[in-house]
Amino acid sequence: MQKAHIITNISDIKEKIGEIKCSGLTLGFVPTMGALHIGHESLIERANTECDAVIVSIFVNPIQFGPNEDFSKYPRQLEQDREICSKYGVDYIFAPIEQEMYPGKYVTEVVPPALYQDRLCGKSRPGHFNGVATVVLKLFNIITPDKAYFGEKDAQQLAIIKKMVQDLNVPVEIIGCPIIRDADGLACSSRNKYLTKESREKALTLYKVLQAHNLDLLHPDIELEYFEEVELGQDKFFAIAAKVDGVRLIDNIRL
Ligand code: AMP
Repeated sequence: MQKAHIITNISDIKEKIGEIKCSGLTLGFVPTMGALHIGHESLIERANTECDAVIVSIFVNPIQFGPNEDFSKYPRQLEQDREICSKYGVDYIFAPIEQEMYPGKYVTEVVPPALYQDRLCGKSRPGHFNGVATVVLKLFNIITPDKAYFGEKDAQQLAIIKKMVQDLNVPVEIIGCPIIRDADGLACSSRNKYLTKESREKALTLYKVLQAHNLDLLHPDIELEYFEEVELGQDKFFAIAAKVDGVRLIDNIRL
């Protein structure tokens, strides 16, 4: 098995992309923050079946984290992630350091419309989606993929990216991919690593609430952030966010 190449600077990845494009190959892109799990794998696998070459980015984007969030303790495990990417024949992993993506003190930000931001995670994490949209647009400009793959797990994020691409005429096709769950029903997330066995048992009730549409099923120890039905662009879904023993989790089901 050939190991996926890790590239950390923009000029080097652009050179490799130049070679891919010169060969007339189609390019698929999967942006991630790493700590890859089977949810990410499903995106990579789909990109692999639909595109000739695949690039995965791994970048824990500081500007999408609030001051009291888990940026510094977010799991980082590049070598393990590389193993996973290699298994799927990913051509390149783009893993820039912060300085490469944000060399200056001031950053021009993409601001998604208020209608898309003023609810769900956008409401509880002010500025979060400016950070997400900004980094995703930067990555699109660097990677210039034909198709980019995003999970429906982050339903609001997906709707915001689709809207940005449409509004700003970004030449990329956005592909939404279904939520991958562990056998017990918990939606896979890099943050599940923080859960103890007991916390995980509690967390399972999030999906139960969504399925039965009944908040009474939520474990009493869970700190609910929202449980809402929303329509964003073409996407309509029931979404829930909650803190389970200090770990913030989100989930949704599409309607
Ligand atoms: P993250 O590394 O959390 O930024 O996620 C990178 C991409 O993987 C995003 O498009 C997520 O929506 C997607 N993703 C994360 N978890 C899942 C999951 N359980 N099922 C499907 N996609 C996922």
